[in-house]
Amino acid sequence: MNTLPNIKILAMGGTIAGSAADDTDMTGYQAGVLSIELLLAAIPQIKQYANVDGQQVCDIDSCDMTEEIWFQLAAKVNTLLLDEAIDGVVITHGTDTLEETAYFLNLVVTSEKPVVLVGAMRPATAMSADGPINLLNAVRLAASKEAFGKGVLVAMNDEIHGARDVTKTNTVNVSTFKAWDLGALGYMNNGKANFYRMTTRKHTKKSEFSLAGLTNLPQVEIVYAHANQNRCIIDAIARAGVKGIIYAGMGNGGIHMNAEPGLIDAAKEGIVVARSSRCGNGCVVASNHKWEELQFIKADSLNPQKARILLALALTKTKDVIEIQRMFDEY
Ligand code: GLU
Repeated sequence: MNTLPNIKILAMGGTIAGSAADDTDMTGYQAGVLSIELLLAAIPQIKQYANVDGQQVCDIDSCDMTEEIWFQLAAKVNTLLLDEAIDGVVITHGTDTLEETAYFLNLVVTSEKPVVLVGAMRPATAMSADGPINLLNAVRLAASKEAFGKGVLVAMNDEIHGARDVTKTNTVNVSTFKAWDLGALGYMNNGKANFYRMTTRKHTKKSEFSLAGLTNLPQVEIVYAHANQNRCIIDAIARAGVKGIIYAGMGNGGIHMNAEPGLIDAAKEGIVVARSSRCGNGCVVASNHKWEELQFIKADSLNPQKARILLALALTKTKDVIEIQRMFDEY
């Protein structure tokens, strides 16, 4: 046995495992069809840096991600990382919901060992496919001492990002994952992990959230703000029994005057309302006094899809809005 780190690779599907009929076809492919064994066979260089062992968890287009798969994945990651023989986990994943899976795991993984998510924007069959180098970098990152204790990470396009702040910003470009104002945590330079910053927000070992004893999360839906809005979607999801609403508001979480009565009625029924923003950048902070009096949660700099995850996990612990706001301020 060599002394290289032992990295487990969990494969979920996505474009990194995608296949097209033509090597110039970058978008007309089927996601999640190639096995992890095939992906690893394309990068024999990986053996210089780690002992890798791949396991297929699912083989899906990540647009179809479900909470059920998240629960399975989180349980698997936590079990693997309890094993002293495992030094880190890499998860191959479709890019469309990669940021959501990363943030979910950031809140429910209990270990400080590296967990790195990776995907690709071009299918494995494409000329200049980005999957092989991204996967090699992800394994080298997970095998590095530098990645320990940094929370769940994303390795894409030679950059290292933190799960909380990274988001997919471009529909097709390989340079799609960005953390906007807050920036990347570092770079993979020639395969070496170089960190320049780390998050100040709680994650993994310091997280208070746990899936123990749960089989699903309270339902939280997102309502996207727009001109000429009315309350019909809000009323419909309230009737459907949601426990929380993320309002992807305008600017600093601004609420349309015709949607506002719907949110007020939802809050009166005990549905927790959080204001996030459709801007994609910056924080949602206190603004209209009425929304403060109503104790609508301010989602800080979490985008709506990540605010949805935090609110769902928060609601597994409490319905107290002061306590939930504390969680949004800390995670
Ligand atoms: N929609 C697919 C997915 O998220 C393909 C996108 C990708 O992986 O880049 O799995």
